[in-house]
Amino acid sequence: MMNFNDEIFKNLCVVSAPSGAGKTSLIKKISKKNNIIVSISQTTRKPRVGEKDGEDYFFVDNEVFQENIKKEAYLEYAFVHENYYGTLIDSVVNLIEKNLLVILEIDFQGAEIIKQKLPSSRNIFILPPSLSELEKRLRDRGTDEEDVILRRLENAKLEISMAKNYDYIIVNDDFSRAEEKLLKFISDKDMVIQEEIRKEPLIDNDF
Ligand code: 5GP
Repeated sequence: MMNFNDEIFKNLCVVSAPSGAGKTSLIKKISKKNNIIVSISQTTRKPRVGEKDGEDYFFVDNEVFQENIKKEAYLEYAFVHENYYGTLIDSVVNLIEKNLLVILEIDFQGAEIIKQKLPSSRNIFILPPSLSELEKRLRDRGTDEEDVILRRLENAKLEISMAKNYDYIIVNDDFSRAEEKLLKFISDKDMVIQEEIRKEPLIDNDF
């Protein structure tokens, strides 16, 4: 087992965003082309249409999740939008040992835990251009019921207020521009990029 302060965790990057900010599509796009892999979390959430077990998440029931908490199997876990989500220690360590750039697509609570446990890791927050644009994207994707959309929008306000604590901020107003930034930031293992460039200012501040 490696030491959690190990420099090797420079290869670990947390990416957070409110749902609808485009995080998953951006990460899918960059991970295909590069030596980048996304760790697959466990969740008690039910699969959405089109989601596959072992690809999007490992879908588990509450009993399994609680058992794993007791066994201390998670590097971090959190209760998000009324479901549990957690990152398994073993899967992260396996990927890191393969010398890949590993992405954890997790919420701000998980991001804080990872920063404490693995200080050499980095974290990136992806912002939508505005709250109204976020609402539009959530509705257009058509995967969630109205009450879920409203809950996610409420949560988005809280999540967005956490962006300032991240090492990097990207505003996803244009997909290819955001993709380019994400790749650049993920590869900035020694954090040599200056703060003004690392943290993009908001465009349309209706948050
Ligand atoms: P969704 O249900 O839309 O896939 O994800 C809801 C939220 O849970 C997103 O903010 C996502 O980043 C977060 N999430 C997914 N997996 C994990 C995890 O393993 N740990 C934590 N803390 N959050 C996660």
